[in-house]
Amino acid sequence: MTGLITRKQFLKTFGIGAAALVCGSQAYGFFSKGGKKAKSIKGHIFENDAPPKPWKWSIEAFHYATDGNKVQCQVCPNRCTLSPGDRSICRSKVNIGGKLYSLVYGNPCAIHVNPIEKKPLNHFYPGTSVISIATAGCNFRCPNCQNWEISQRKPEEVHFTELFPAEVVEAARRSDTPSIAYTYSEAVTFYEYTFDTAKLAHEEGLRNVLVSNGYINSEPLLMLAGYLDGANIDLKSFDDDTYRCLNGGTLYPVLNTLKTLHRANVWFEITTLVVPTYVDDHEMIKRMCGWILKELGPDYPLHFSRFFPRYKLNRLHATPVKTLEELRDIALKEGLRYVYLGNVPGHDGYNTYCHNCHKTLIKRKGYYIAEFNINDGMCKFCKTPIPGRWEGG
Ligand code: SF4
Repeated sequence: MTGLITRKQFLKTFGIGAAALVCGSQAYGFFSKGGKKAKSIKGHIFENDAPPKPWKWSIEAFHYATDGNKVQCQVCPNRCTLSPGDRSICRSKVNIGGKLYSLVYGNPCAIHVNPIEKKPLNHFYPGTSVISIATAGCNFRCPNCQNWEISQRKPEEVHFTELFPAEVVEAARRSDTPSIAYTYSEAVTFYEYTFDTAKLAHEEGLRNVLVSNGYINSEPLLMLAGYLDGANIDLKSFDDDTYRCLNGGTLYPVLNTLKTLHRANVWFEITTLVVPTYVDDHEMIKRMCGWILKELGPDYPLHFSRFFPRYKLNRLHATPVKTLEELRDIALKEGLRYVYLGNVPGHDGYNTYCHNCHKTLIKRKGYYIAEFNINDGMCKFCKTPIPGRWEGG
């Protein structure tokens, strides 16, 4: 099953009963009970310019410093410093009375069930499905964001549903969905929700997948990494100026995230959206691949994803497929073993080829698998171990 579903459909599909819902709302309720639509609760946080109050989906943030009045969030390199009443850059945190609160705990605005290939993860239990959740907010400001309707909004501006960590885990368990992904907007900004859900999921034997821009500080990342099984991290460019002007962030924290996940033995894949004129320079891609090879080795897959005009960056045309093919050739020539194309359905760059014998290991049709030639994590033809996480491997 794929696609956006309503809370009612979700609960029905996954067989969640009223008991589970009450459990969630009792555990974390600050406000009135009962999940209402965003429209009817709009204004509760900053009503009539009054000092903000916690609402039902608030939780005190996990990583912040305070002098009793001002607070500083420590989750991402933005390190927002907020006076009482101030809202964070990611829009999902607020200083209430000298304490920092997340406003998105248990109120996802997107819930989908996806093939794991859609994250994209091509070497992580192929053919399995994943429950994907997101809340409003992001710590970047990309003018080409594909999910800007939720990433560039405040939590009270989007339609959301109520689903606390125990309910997400229960839904996955009852539906035999083996993984939960924290994705779409920016999981770093709903860190507390992600962390608690991931911890519970691990206790239940489920896998956790982080899909992120990687703009997170080391300490919260290391704490979360203990519960992560897989990740897809955007490496949006290999140029700090491009990060600053296109994304509103910087490059080095993202590189640090990749190195941290590598050291923590979390499987990850890297995605680079090839934005014409910003992220298609051959020399830059060559340097990027050289860094990956030196710091992370040849095995982590790299996905070159096709850009389409979106949101505020609609003056550019879609990335020519030829450009993507050239970048893929550069990456392979530099020594990376698994380089994929994204957003080009039907292209050979969707398939997995053994880095030793070059035979086709996985033939994909879009996000679905048409042929599978990996046994116990090894190439069926030449028995070379294939990097990744595989059933039985
Ligand atoms: S996670 Fe949000 S509140 Fe925290 S530092 Fe980053 S942008 Fe600011």
